[in-house]
Amino acid sequence: MKLYEYEAKEIFAQHGIPVPEGKVITDPDEIEGVMYPLVLKAQVLVGGRGKAGGVKIVENIGEAKEAAEMMLSMDIKGIPVKKLLVYPAVDIQKEYYLGFVVDRNSRRVVAIASSEGGVDIEEVAEKSPEKIAKLEIDPLLGLKSYHTVELGKQIGLEGKTLLDFSRIALRLYKICEEYDAELVEINPLALSEEGFSAVDAKLNVDDNALYRQKFKPKEEEYTELERMAKKAGLSYVSLDGDIAIIGCGAGLVMASLDLIQKRGGRPANFLDVGGGANAENMKQALEIVTRQKGLKSIFVNIFGGITRCDQIADGIVEFGPEIPLSVRMMGTNEEEGKKILRENGYSVSDSMAEAAQKAVELARA
Ligand code: GDP
Ligand code: MN
Repeated sequence: MKLYEYEAKEIFAQHGIPVPEGKVITDPDEIEGVMYPLVLKAQVLVGGRGKAGGVKIVENIGEAKEAAEMMLSMDIKGIPVKKLLVYPAVDIQKEYYLGFVVDRNSRRVVAIASSEGGVDIEEVAEKSPEKIAKLEIDPLLGLKSYHTVELGKQIGLEGKTLLDFSRIALRLYKICEEYDAELVEINPLALSEEGFSAVDAKLNVDDNALYRQKFKPKEEEYTELERMAKKAGLSYVSLDGDIAIIGCGAGLVMASLDLIQKRGGRPANFLDVGGGANAENMKQALEIVTRQKGLKSIFVNIFGGITRCDQIADGIVEFGPEIPLSVRMMGTNEEEGKKILRENGYSVSDSMAEAAQKAVELARA
């Protein structure tokens, strides 16, 4: 789960990381008694707001209201802007990067620092990898000040600045642990006359740890269909193609996506009905995927184990999708399932490749 910049900054401040003192507004009229130059920032759960026009620095109240009006009526990467964070602009001398991320390869949290802040860290990694310092953290030992001092040295810091950086890094790691973060990031970590401050803040909490965190789930992080699926207990992700994919088991659904893609089709979604899905679950799954606009065909890929193929077939027939459908069915009650589908005029095969091919052809027709 992603936190908003202003939420992350609140947590950073509570943990002693310097953050520009700001205010969240939802209406341009709320900009009052602030200092200029003033930064206005769209609060949306996507990165790269700067490039998308979601960050503005203004010099007076007139400009501020005009910018706020404009920003509160815009979309960033498809997400409407409803809140702005405003704070007096920091007079930045240099921008650094500091972050902690769960690295699946090393199975550890890795600290990442760079003297090239303010831009995408992926971009720095590509263009000038020598400007990135990395440190794998031993979970038993934890992060020590000799680590963070070394990290700071590697990005060219020294003296008091180095010690300040080291302190911020230790605090940020503490947040990473305490909030079960997948990613916690300050980009840019801005250096000014007054020292370092976190001008931007990112904190993504691992969804698997939400049960022990106190956050309320964020509705706005999901599309309407994703929300519907959540309610129905189905794993669903919206994609941008035109062939809906329904399968049982995440691995099988992933394989189905790959297969469709390989045959030249474009998956419209990922939907896992889970093990032991019945006719009702199948109906709900169809209900959700068929709501997607521009859908051309549906690929249902079922390996019957606990799941019974005849139940899946019943669900399909009862729902009766208007969009052409290709089913692959194998396993428990396979023959019964196929019979039901064939009797009702649906295309069914026990070969995954064949059924996927058919789904792609149906989408093209
Ligand atoms: P992002 O584009 O979503 O990562 O948003 P950021 O909060 O990182 O802002 C983008 C850029 O705006 C930063 O890299 C800075 O260059 C600039 N910026 C943001 N806040 C300030 C500020 O207080 N002072 C100055 N001078 N620039 C700022
Ligand atoms: Mn940023």
